[in-house]
Amino acid sequence: MKNRIILFLCSLCIPAMLLTGCAGDAEGPGKAEADAETVTSASAFAGDPEASAETPELSVPDEAVPDETVRDETVREEDPSEASPVYGHVVIIGVDGGGTFFRDADTPILDGIFENGAVTYRCLTSDPTISAQCWGSLMTGVTPAFHRLSNSYIDAHPYPADSPFPTFFRVVREAMPDAALGSFCNWNPINVGIVEDGLGVTKGTAPGDSALTDMICKYVKNERPAVLFVQFDEVDGAGHGHGYGGKEHLAQLHTEDGYIGRIRDAYSDSGILDDTLFIVTADHGGKGTSHGGLTDAEKYIMWAAAGKTVTPGEIRDMEIRDTAAVVLWALGLSDRQPETWTARVPSGLFEGVEAGERPVYELEYLTEHRTRESVPTPDEGSRAPDLFGDRVLCYLPFDGDPDPAAGELTSEQKGKLYYVDGFFGNGAQFDDGSVSLSGWMPGMESFTVGMWLKTGGVSSDPCLFSDKNWTSGSNPGFVLSLRDTDIKFNLGDGSSRMDSEFLLPMDFRDGWVYAVLAVDREAEEIRFSYDFGEFQTAAIPASLRGVSFDGLRKLNIGQDGTGRYPERLGAVLDEFLLIRGAMTDEELASLAEFYGD
Ligand SMILES: [Zn+2]
Repeated sequence: MKNRIILFLCSLCIPAMLLTGCAGDAEGPGKAEADAETVTSASAFAGDPEASAETPELSVPDEAVPDETVRDETVREEDPSEASPVYGHVVIIGVDGGGTFFRDADTPILDGIFENGAVTYRCLTSDPTISAQCWGSLMTGVTPAFHRLSNSYIDAHPYPADSPFPTFFRVVREAMPDAALGSFCNWNPINVGIVEDGLGVTKGTAPGDSALTDMICKYVKNERPAVLFVQFDEVDGAGHGHGYGGKEHLAQLHTEDGYIGRIRDAYSDSGILDDTLFIVTADHGGKGTSHGGLTDAEKYIMWAAAGKTVTPGEIRDMEIRDTAAVVLWALGLSDRQPETWTARVPSGLFEGVEAGERPVYELEYLTEHRTRESVPTPDEGSRAPDLFGDRVLCYLPFDGDPDPAAGELTSEQKGKLYYVDGFFGNGAQFDDGSVSLSGWMPGMESFTVGMWLKTGGVSSDPCLFSDKNWTSGSNPGFVLSLRDTDIKFNLGDGSSRMDSEFLLPMDFRDGWVYAVLAVDREAEEIRFSYDFGEFQTAAIPASLRGVSFDGLRKLNIGQDGTGRYPERLGAVLDEFLLIRGAMTDEELASLAEFYGD
């Protein structure tokens, strides 16, 4: 059960699917709307298959406090090779939206705690400066390109228990099977989608930072946790509501100062403060009433630590992901830091500890397609559409022009396309142009669209294929939209909408990915596959069953139905194929065989 950081890179080939009712072309469910109900659960450690079967919902237990001193000594005596912990306890208090504004606020308690502590106001957070991305980096020791968490994603999906980028909770649990570990977050998606289930981490949430503090103090006194993570949310709320750095925002920081003092007192009352590394930080700052960008006010955060080995003064050259390395170092577990983490203990934090080179981790490509060199398009009579006979509506090989090489539809180029190396022959680079298809609209019919796609990544949500006005997801019609980490399908009828997101393979950037969307109007479901992997299915909700897929009666590749969506696609497409009917598993398999998968 110990020391098992196993890298299942192959598990990443299986893209996770999302089915959310999120805002679609907007940013996803706002944090303000996040579930605020109180849930405390303690679940069994995943390393024990029997124990992990159930994750019972419990209140914070009121059991006797285990005698940690005795246990620590036992470990040292029995296994002298085991690195001894520098600290028995680590607490990370994260103030959402706090940025570096702590220094502008009246925070007498923080001033006291960190009087002899190590502090920086130049800790760089993750890009984009959004909560899930930044808290995700703090816990997993990697940038968002690797953990790939987003606010809408963590709201609905547990973090994979076998991710190659485990949180520090998982690493600590594998080393310390019996330690009390706690995560108490006002914004509960952190507990849902970042902290792994099945580790026995006590997860708590409350509808306000004050109530959360009550819960935390009780938990600290009862359990004396080895690791405690806290997320307060009301500072971010004040920033969104009244402006970051404004009077209300700074006043809220002053209020949180009191909550942090109560948590410090709980450690002190429990007699463990001297053996605690006490950290206060933030996930991001803000500018105006928002954040997400890379201005100094958004990207720099305070990061402060106090503890018996902390060097008073300034921490140098630190990023938020380094927090994960600090947690392991404090507990004497640095030798267990996963190879996949790119976190390091910064200079200027601990006596005698200088930061080494930042660890580097590169993903290996998961399929041969990713790095494939272009080969000529096969001759007529041995091309992908031949597998589908008269069901082919349109096949665009993009070999230097936008003309269909099979099917009954006609195509028209709008703006500029650039013909670059494709999967076969050329592919079309959609930066400044699009292609309109005429002669067919989906209406109530089943259909399937497939294509090779290569992108360096996009921002926002440009269109791969659409017939609607994508300025709102509830507009009539559908869209297949390429986003930074996923492809999103959306359908609307003017009032209701459906949004399904399919997480792109982790190594998708700059390599060829085959994406296929099958719309099955008999089963009223959509199916999605990357790289010819098993179809993932999403049911069309009752409110949209029987509605037409027609939007603006314009079918566009690389644009929405208006042809004027402001976000450019920024991807190379090749072998675009549109057929009647929903592709079956067998047909997908034959397509895979054709493309040499
Ligand atoms: Zn926010």
